[in-house]
Amino acid sequence: MRILILQVAPQTRGRPIPRFDPRLGTLLTLLAERGHELHLIGLSRFDEGRVKAALTRCLPQLVFADISPVCVGAARRALEFLGTREFLPIVAGGAFPTVAPAEALSLPGVAAVAIGEPDATLVTYLERLKDPVAPTAVRGVWLRDEQGLTRPQLPGLVEDLDSLPFAERDLFGYAEWLARCGELEIAVGRGCPQHCGYCSNDAERMMYEGRGVWVRRRSPGNVLDEITVVRRRHATVRSVRILDHAFALDDSWLVGFCEAYARRCGLPLRCHLRANAVTSTRLTLLRSANLADADVEIISGSDFIRNEIFAMDLSNAQIVAAFGELHRAGVRTRAVLYLGSPYESEASMEDTLHLLRALRPARVDVRPYFPFPGTRAAAEPCGSNGWLSPRGEEEYHADRPGIEMPACRPPLVTACIRRIRAEFATTVSSPWWRRLRQAPQHLLKLMRGR
Ligand code: SF4
Repeated sequence: MRILILQVAPQTRGRPIPRFDPRLGTLLTLLAERGHELHLIGLSRFDEGRVKAALTRCLPQLVFADISPVCVGAARRALEFLGTREFLPIVAGGAFPTVAPAEALSLPGVAAVAIGEPDATLVTYLERLKDPVAPTAVRGVWLRDEQGLTRPQLPGLVEDLDSLPFAERDLFGYAEWLARCGELEIAVGRGCPQHCGYCSNDAERMMYEGRGVWVRRRSPGNVLDEITVVRRRHATVRSVRILDHAFALDDSWLVGFCEAYARRCGLPLRCHLRANAVTSTRLTLLRSANLADADVEIISGSDFIRNEIFAMDLSNAQIVAAFGELHRAGVRTRAVLYLGSPYESEASMEDTLHLLRALRPARVDVRPYFPFPGTRAAAEPCGSNGWLSPRGEEEYHADRPGIEMPACRPPLVTACIRRIRAEFATTVSSPWWRRLRQAPQHLLKLMRGR
């Protein structure tokens, strides 16, 4: 079957879409292995010209739309357009359909929604479509037809992640990405043991309750095999980035990984670290694997927002201590934060600014808070207080939060986001004078091959 895949996701950090996504990449490999012909385009906004060109090039028999919760409007427009030009079956999947399947099924032309981890759902569904007499009901795929809505249970979780093939990368334009920045991205597991109130992890975990172990990790050998395969194909790989937030939370797995990584790769490593999990033992271990960069979610300078609203169990003191440890170990840090979260105020934004000044991260990634559907914070307190913005994702793309609180209007939040981006090196929208100031450092980095 010829399948056109639309990755509808925001363009972050100036990175073009399509953007490598390990979950989608694994699905694409599985579909290719079953003989499907795949074409992938990325959309952060509806672009009629690109959709038309993809239709002409691909002549699809089916469209699969992988939809991010902050691009539902863009997906709606693209699917509407498809509906007016072609009579094509459309299946939706990805983060938004997983947490809001009924809403995804109401998008124009969508006849089926693959929920959760698509390896076990979408692949089987497409196999059934090939056989006109086979029943189409498949675990994890919601359907809408003349009879109404079919909502089958989810299948069990894939427990042995090593049994999955390596993720497809070429369709994402990975050679160009590596030539541009040299950073190989890889996922080492699925699921997360944390319970941050702004994250859809909890919603997914609950959906899968009773269907297997939620937090799973690939074996270190399997991860290193994939890194080796990608490095053999692309001489431009200069560093490795682990995408999982839960990467460093299991000590026994981490020991095995760091040993294998140091022995079989050794390139500068970047990963997520939980500030309350940065211990000197873990840091020594990670340094043995050439840890060079750490992304740390601080989210807010307000202990109240971080802990009472988002249940992160993470104090300012722990954050300060973690950054101190990381800097002493020579690890570059990137602080990740949201502004405009529930109960944000001018005072809490000032607290965030003061905390950042004390932490002195090498880079800051600051975004407006967006209440992702299915997350705890979106329901309580945002939904219950009537704070959800009627303009939804448009706000997020304009650097305004997706909630409106009388005590902290969106323009105040936007101003503070811009202030932080002007004061700190960022991965988003650095002002021209900062980029100019950073140019000699970038040049030095390039000369050192990093
Ligand atoms: S640590 Fe990351 S993935 Fe885990 S619950 Fe928190 S935000 Fe979600």
